[in-house]
Amino acid sequence: MAAQSANRRDFLRVAAVAVAASGLGSLSDAQASQLSGVSKTISAQQDAVDLTPLHASTESPDKTPGPFDAPSERIGFAVVGLGHLSLGQILPAFGKTKHCRPVALVSGDSAKAAKIAAQYGIRESSIYDYKSYDDIRSNPDVQVTYIVLPNSMHAEYVIRGANSGKHILCEKPMATSVADCERMIAACKAANVKLMIAYRQQYEPMNRAIVKLVHDGKLGALRSIIATNAQNQGDPLQWRQKIALSGGGCLPDVGIYCLNAARFLSGEEPSEVRGTLHQPEDDPRFREVEESCSFIAKFPSGLIAACSSGYGAHKSQWMRLEGDRGWAELNPAFGYTGLKLRTSTVQDGHDVVSEPLIEAADQFAVEMDHMALCVRNNVQPHTSGEEGLQDQSIIDAIYESARTGKSVSLAAPREATRGPEPIAP
Ligand code: NAD
Repeated sequence: MAAQSANRRDFLRVAAVAVAASGLGSLSDAQASQLSGVSKTISAQQDAVDLTPLHASTESPDKTPGPFDAPSERIGFAVVGLGHLSLGQILPAFGKTKHCRPVALVSGDSAKAAKIAAQYGIRESSIYDYKSYDDIRSNPDVQVTYIVLPNSMHAEYVIRGANSGKHILCEKPMATSVADCERMIAACKAANVKLMIAYRQQYEPMNRAIVKLVHDGKLGALRSIIATNAQNQGDPLQWRQKIALSGGGCLPDVGIYCLNAARFLSGEEPSEVRGTLHQPEDDPRFREVEESCSFIAKFPSGLIAACSSGYGAHKSQWMRLEGDRGWAELNPAFGYTGLKLRTSTVQDGHDVVSEPLIEAADQFAVEMDHMALCVRNNVQPHTSGEEGLQDQSIIDAIYESARTGKSVSLAAPREATRGPEPIAP
């Protein structure tokens, strides 16, 4: 009993810290509603399972996982598209979520879908193909459809999902044109469903820690962000190399991580971009899309981000933020696992370089749990459709700059690009 109340006290403290870290001091309606989600989570925490610690009190404390919602209380997701990301990351991540369960699949390959449905305990009657996708409307188990298709198909499947009355989680990049992003946002608004773009890094604990460092002024005024995301592409026939399906080469696929990081970590929107790209003539992989693309984004405060992305260089993923009082570095950055954070801040007049101990989280699990809590508590997702639209506008401007050889000025976004801060997992 004593252990139980200590646990509850601990959790209330953690929840209070999470709320404080979320900057929920003065509450808008949406934030207040998110806060009510926190109190629901607090009561769920009373159901947490306590285990007697295995180790001495001098060791770091054991963590009991959870609490996890019972299956009947979880938010049901339909996964649309059963390719590498769905099979390798998203479906396995459901086992690490607290609030989500896979309840339906949408695929053009019924034999593959049947095998996967059996593996994840999904009813055969909840398997759809791309034609019968709209029938998902009458499946009460499905509350969210998660769109994991080639980029140019996102718009159609988001809009059809919204018209079926389902909330939408959509992979990045949101689409392949600003016009499609706007249609997707309008369709979700008209259908009164939530739209979240799956920017997993915005829910990842080390990235969250950098957001807090910047917000708390620990790095001082940001002056520079340098970021690289590159990988060496294989099969020239895959959709990523076809402009009609991908919308571009390395920039919208992997360069978007650098762009999005520069925006959400700084909390600023760029006012000007300049881009340059390379598309070799003799490599069959790059008949339609660029191999490499670098860009510089200038922000109103004077911050400059220099980012590079590539489809021909060996895998390379890192990023550094430099302020006038310190720096923070993720190396590697952007991957699914293995991220490493180093920071340098001034303490008592000395530069202190440290590697903060931050527990890793499955990025897909925390991202899906965020969506589930937004649905349950009627809150706008942190990475809304407007966030995806803003990246798409900047990507278009980078391509325009590469074409014309001139810098392109950017208007400030018409609407806020982000919803309330996510609650720590
Ligand atoms: P993939 O090629 O492995 O899977 C795509 C799926 O779409 C396949 O099941 C394929 O059969 C299906 N499909 C339906 N119509 C198709 C068509 N006309 N052409 C090609 N495929 C078609 O791709 P993926 O790596 O799973 O990527 C899917 C989406 O997820 C993309 O938008 C991509 O940008 C995004 N993604 C995000 C991350 C991340 O870390 N968040 C990582 C990888 C991919």
